[in-house]
Amino acid sequence: MHSLMQVDPRRPFPRQFVPEGATMGDWAQIEPLFRQLQDRSINSVEELEQWLVDCSELSAAIAEERTRRYIAMTVQTDDPVREAAYQEFIEQIDPKTKPCWHALEVAYLKSPHRKLLRIDRYGVLDRIIENNVSLYREDNIPLETADALLMKDYQKLSGAMTVVHRGEEITLQQAAKFLEEPDRSLRQQVWELVTSRRLRDKESLEDLYDKMVALRTQIARNAGFENYRDYIFKRRRRFDYTPEDCLEFHAGVERAAVPLVREILQERRRKLGVETLRPWDTLVDPQQRPPLRPFASIENLVMGIEEIFRRVDPALGDQFRFMWEEKLLDLDSRKGKAPGGYQSTLHERRWPFIFANAVGRDDDVRTMLHEGGHAFHQLAAREQPLIHYRNAPIEFAEVASMGMELLAAPHLDVFYKNPEDYKRSYRTTLEDAVTILPWVATIDAFQHWVYTHPAHTRAQRREAWGQVFSRFSTVVDWRGYEEALAYAWHRQLHLFLSPFYYIEYGIAETGALQIWTRSRTNHREAVERYWQALWLGGSRPLPRLFEAAGARFRFDYDTVAPLMDAVAEELGRIGD
Ligand SMILES: [Zn+2]
Repeated sequence: MHSLMQVDPRRPFPRQFVPEGATMGDWAQIEPLFRQLQDRSINSVEELEQWLVDCSELSAAIAEERTRRYIAMTVQTDDPVREAAYQEFIEQIDPKTKPCWHALEVAYLKSPHRKLLRIDRYGVLDRIIENNVSLYREDNIPLETADALLMKDYQKLSGAMTVVHRGEEITLQQAAKFLEEPDRSLRQQVWELVTSRRLRDKESLEDLYDKMVALRTQIARNAGFENYRDYIFKRRRRFDYTPEDCLEFHAGVERAAVPLVREILQERRRKLGVETLRPWDTLVDPQQRPPLRPFASIENLVMGIEEIFRRVDPALGDQFRFMWEEKLLDLDSRKGKAPGGYQSTLHERRWPFIFANAVGRDDDVRTMLHEGGHAFHQLAAREQPLIHYRNAPIEFAEVASMGMELLAAPHLDVFYKNPEDYKRSYRTTLEDAVTILPWVATIDAFQHWVYTHPAHTRAQRREAWGQVFSRFSTVVDWRGYEEALAYAWHRQLHLFLSPFYYIEYGIAETGALQIWTRSRTNHREAVERYWQALWLGGSRPLPRLFEAAGARFRFDYDTVAPLMDAVAEELGRIGD
């Protein structure tokens, strides 16, 4: 048993191999370290293990430099010096390290001592390295760069989208807030503004996507795969599930989750008292109450979140407090800060960092609980000697965060003293956990089609999207907005920026809901197991990580259906 008390977030990990004081922003100081690792002669399995630890130390030192520059840039985007420092790292350091790591990985595979490593400890690492080397193609480096440049174009196009509302130019993120307003005609007006703004760039986005699909297909073929789907399954290290498992997930969601989402939305429609639910009716409170306002200042937010974590387990409260004391939280929304939120890791210190743009919304609370789950994961795994094992695969990393949202939900009364408000926030947490599933299935099924039909025309793609969308669609009435519906996928940035990255959220949600179901009968035990699984970091294959957390690594109908029943039951119990 690994008690939560065993993590000491302040225990330092001094450099053993990288010289103290060496700067990881300077290639002249990094290169000799790669050379030393490359030239070292390894004469025993113990020496190979030490070599792996040293490689890991170098990797962490370089990664920490990148993260520091990234954080510095995102907390103040209007400082050109910070932007240049990050850009320089991406252009000057990152690409130079790639062939060096490849050479080290090849050296590892050739080492005669490799087969003597303990499989229980090194099995996962060995599989990762073997996979990296098998996919490495010199020819693909320029194609990957070209893809990255197209991604920048997507970000530029969508970042430049604004609308003018009541004489004021606002970003689409700012516009989204109006969809929570009780005034229905205002919601419709803003929704139409945003939709027509997006449609103005539809040809450019179609162009971009055509180019991306062609490039990615070429990358796959260069690596010896028939299509990009099969390639990316390996690239994303999906060792423990197949495309067929994803199809089973789609079928399970269609049968078990879509009916519940329909019920939730029908209920919403009745409460709103409207004939049909239109696309601008999904985010407003169904009883048309004004948006929840859980906190008035960042100090309120931090104190409340700490209290919630402390109630889940006192050690988690302490860990969160530690992050606040060490300035590992940058949460307020201010001019010049990048949008959105993320959790990132300072790999050398082995410390998490949380970035957010909290403005006092209910959603901000959920975001903090989510990112807090990621942060605890990093702290739990900090004693793992290999950097590979200090990060879990995304399918499980999101169990840590989505699971924490659900484990913490019973304690939302810290922010909501009024039981009505508490119920409202708790309901939203549960409803979000369900409504996400059909959308995950939609995006995933669409990508399966796109990359297994790489020669498709735009008309065929439009047709395929329409079919996928209606398969998982619920009760929202899009009549009169057929054009907007046909291109609704343009706003899902993952399709452009992280192809095939989306099913992870669905897989993780089934894990998180299993943990939550367990917590309903025995909260203490569920938290203990959750923590033990986090402690493993990425050192075990996915099914073992799920198992450690008390969940099955399955996401078919038989897994999804009972989870939907449990949520439906709880929603009924809470009432409104
Ligand atoms: Zn997350």
